[in-house]
Amino acid sequence: MKARELYHSLDFLGKTQQNWAFSHLVGKDYGEVFLDNPEVKGIKEKLLQIKRGYKKGIPLAYLLEESYFYGRRFYVNPDVLIPRPETEGLVERALDLPWKKALDLCTGSGVIATTLYLEKGGHIQGVDLSHKALALAKKNAKELGAQVDFSQGDLFSGLSGKFDLIISNPPYIKTASMMDLEVSLYEPHLALDGGRDGLDLIRRILEEAPSYLNPGGHLLLEIGDEQADKLLCLGQSFCGRIEVDLAKKPRYYIGRKKEIC
Ligand code: GLN
Repeated sequence: MKARELYHSLDFLGKTQQNWAFSHLVGKDYGEVFLDNPEVKGIKEKLLQIKRGYKKGIPLAYLLEESYFYGRRFYVNPDVLIPRPETEGLVERALDLPWKKALDLCTGSGVIATTLYLEKGGHIQGVDLSHKALALAKKNAKELGAQVDFSQGDLFSGLSGKFDLIISNPPYIKTASMMDLEVSLYEPHLALDGGRDGLDLIRRILEEAPSYLNPGGHLLLEIGDEQADKLLCLGQSFCGRIEVDLAKKPRYYIGRKKEIC
């Protein structure tokens, strides 16, 4: 199949995803091969798979097994959440804080932990309950040359030592809202479902984090846009504040551990 023919056969995706799928299949942007229009070989099967999967509503990131986060390419699969732009905002905030040792809870594909290492260095530990997610996180870190210490566990269980930063994009969606959300069709419920009020994991993190933070250390969480007031109320061990995402929705909780803790 010729490159231009391939490009047009992907136009059911819409422009941005069309360009993305094309460069994934060909290894070059469409603009680079438009004039030469070379023959593209060995992609028929994959193209069919993309068409079929997309029709069913499977996110393109899963079909291509890749996603971009903070300008880098990460492997993704249905064992992990597809990283979101909001989470890039979380990482930006982490990079503005002072820390040398950081812990990423619910690391999933490892995008946060890996990006923190590549942007700032230091000692980073990533934890997840899912063995399958951890396998992918390790693959991502290795591929990108990040030295992250990944371990399996239920939040803080099995951890020792203290950190300057605890960061997490925990599951924060209310169980009752899960059915209304398109993301819940193909993305892992373990990564999304935060229990009855969406705060099951967040409550545990707020309670346990102070014991794992050095004096003056920070807790940085991505949260649901209706959870801000609750977070401020629950986080009694922290001097906390909320910041908004690019859509101006309350999205980030930044808590500094109170010195008396
Ligand atoms: N840390 C990963 C991300 O932000 C996974 C988060 C999760 O599984 N809740 O994409």
